[in-house]
Amino acid sequence: MKCSKCQAEAIYFAKYNGLYLCREHFNDMIEKRVKSEIRNQVDLKKPMVRISVAISGGKDSSVTLYLLHKILSKRRNVELTAFTVDEGISGYRPAGLESAIKLTKMLGVDHSIIRFQDSFGMTLDSIVGADASRIPCSYCGPLRRKLINEMAERQNADYVALGLNLDDYSQSILMNVAKGDYDRLLRMSPQKEAKDGLVRRIAPLRSVLEKEVVLYAVINGIPFDSSWCPYYSRAQRNIFREVVNTLSEYNPSTKFSILKFFERARSDVQRNDKALGRCRICGAPTENDVCSACAAMESLRNERK
Ligand code: SF4
Ligand code: ZN
Repeated sequence: MKCSKCQAEAIYFAKYNGLYLCREHFNDMIEKRVKSEIRNQVDLKKPMVRISVAISGGKDSSVTLYLLHKILSKRRNVELTAFTVDEGISGYRPAGLESAIKLTKMLGVDHSIIRFQDSFGMTLDSIVGADASRIPCSYCGPLRRKLINEMAERQNADYVALGLNLDDYSQSILMNVAKGDYDRLLRMSPQKEAKDGLVRRIAPLRSVLEKEVVLYAVINGIPFDSSWCPYYSRAQRNIFREVVNTLSEYNPSTKFSILKFFERARSDVQRNDKALGRCRICGAPTENDVCSACAAMESLRNERK
């Protein structure tokens, strides 16, 4: 098949808009889409914008860093840094870390590492060993979110970039709807406003399909680790992945429609958000008395009693 925009051989068919695309026009489409996300999510008019990228070494966060670097590194007012959260998952995290180090070296971006073991005194593997009653992600998620914010604050970042693709993003919207968690739905990244103590999260890839992220990484020679977390199969998210994929078989633009619907609905909502308080155990910003990372560690201690 020929590219719908030129005479070159097509490497990709975008079912949702009927376009066949060659390598160059595929890259073009992805880069334009991400540029527009960045313009909407980041205030580039500020005299200095510091963006910290949370890079796991997987495809999504690696492409996020690569594209932020490609699109923004020539701007004098933008400073990019990166860091990896090492949860302590043997057989998985070391390879991701290695990939993250390779990519940050290749791009010349500063990179640091923050470990569960140093911050919580335990690796995720040992947490999972101590409490088999909860799914590993229910510990991993809040603990990692806490360290992501801590690290971004330490790097003095105005924004912290996460590697969420459109598949993840549309799944998260439906998950929050299905749980009836309206507050969490409205709090989804990218946040429109800064909140005291919380670095604003951005998601530059949220309108790029997962398979497009993989193709972009492969054809542009971006190093990434393709192994799966050993705890992944137990993630609740899998149910929603199936639901969204099934809906997309009937209508290939479903994931885009979910995103569009969410953005329209969210922009219509006028809210006076609760001001953030501080966790009484660790002092991290939270809407509750205790932050979700401390609540998870508390429940682990009770489990071990
Ligand atoms: Fe953590 Fe779950 Fe992701 Fe594994 S799949 S890294 S346990 S959130
Ligand atoms: Zn073309």
